[in-house]
Amino acid sequence: MAYLNDNYLKLKSGYLFPEIARRVREFCEKNPESAKRLIRCGIGDVTEPLPPAVVAALHKAVDEMAKRETFRGYGPEQGYEFLRTAIAQNDYRSQGIDIADDEIFVSDGSKCDCGNILDILGAQNKIAMMDPVYPVYVDTNVMAGHTGAANEGGAYAGLVYLPCTAANGFVADIPKEKVDIVYLCYPNNPTGAVATRDQLTNWVQYALKNKAILLYDAAYEAYITDPAVPHSIYEIPGARECAIEFRSFSKNGGFTGTRCAFTVMPKSLMAATSDGRFTSLHPLWLRRSTTKFNGVSYPVQRAAEALYTPEGKAQVKGLIEHYMGNAQVLRKGAKAAGLNVFGGVNAPYIWVETPAGVNSWQAFDRILNEANVVITPGSGFGKNGEGFFRISSFNSRANAEEVARRLQTLKW
Ligand SMILES: *Cc1c(COP(=O)(O)O)cnc(C)c1O
Repeated sequence: MAYLNDNYLKLKSGYLFPEIARRVREFCEKNPESAKRLIRCGIGDVTEPLPPAVVAALHKAVDEMAKRETFRGYGPEQGYEFLRTAIAQNDYRSQGIDIADDEIFVSDGSKCDCGNILDILGAQNKIAMMDPVYPVYVDTNVMAGHTGAANEGGAYAGLVYLPCTAANGFVADIPKEKVDIVYLCYPNNPTGAVATRDQLTNWVQYALKNKAILLYDAAYEAYITDPAVPHSIYEIPGARECAIEFRSFSKNGGFTGTRCAFTVMPKSLMAATSDGRFTSLHPLWLRRSTTKFNGVSYPVQRAAEALYTPEGKAQVKGLIEHYMGNAQVLRKGAKAAGLNVFGGVNAPYIWVETPAGVNSWQAFDRILNEANVVITPGSGFGKNGEGFFRISSFNSRANAEEVARRLQTLKW
């Protein structure tokens, strides 16, 4: 008899995006005329095409693959040297952060890395995560058997939830209890909040004191506009001893469909064996990568490398300015509609409080039916997301302006 992984059966079936898709489909079938003016500000996917520097690098790399002399088969599992050097040099060393080339592990996505990292961490760890949160952190821990069942409200037994509310500026407070692993995501999806240098310093100090590890998801670091806000956890002294950073080319370079990201695993990061010895995690992550992964394709790594050329950097800046211009338009529109608005300053997401007496899904239905706009209900990201909805800036300027206008026509 073959057994399945029972942990998968603990996952909540009514997952956020399928439920949104179902409601949108039903609305479009019932209202074919309104469906024509539907604008999607829901899923966090980019809308602008790949930057020209990336397209040129892709074409060139494909041509190399087409000739015997320049063809490449399997590459290094952890990424080509040319890309690891470009990353370590441009994202870290040029910013005064000490990261070596071989501490960079190139992958096909941060989503995958955030889940895969659990392979090298012990099952006995006490795990804390922000609420609301990117659902991947929770679900991968459920799959790995790190939780009990979910309660009525969707919270899993065994996880420590760190509430992120308007009261704490959507930045998780340091827990009173001792935890071993903490997921932090700044700039944040879904709230658009960022953590200050002082707040991150408190987290690093907490981690060092408790010999805990911070899993720092910086997928949106390119959207930071405030010069005082850290782009990397390694800007904080001591972070090399307690943090793993996840970064992605999805949101800066428009790689959501091209797939390339990286994890920074400092060699100085240690964790305990079950008999209490401390040892480096770097060799374990290298072993995991070389055993379970065969690397990102050569053309895609060349494409990612092109993001670090002067043209590439200028084009990424243009993309970010486009999306952040949308964010400003949407923030203004939501404010003019009388709504309480957060985020959208250092992140492409606007986090909006629902009017009194309206919950997240009611707001979703009203905005869909009356404004023909798809947003994301905050409750889908966790208990503390209830009473909010997320508007994404990933759109054309014309759509952002139209959404801003329509929000003001709603009578709550
Ligand atoms: C989009 C996103 C990522 C990037 O995931 P990829 O797999 O690299 O596309 C990572 N974390 C968060 C919170 C995101 O929203």
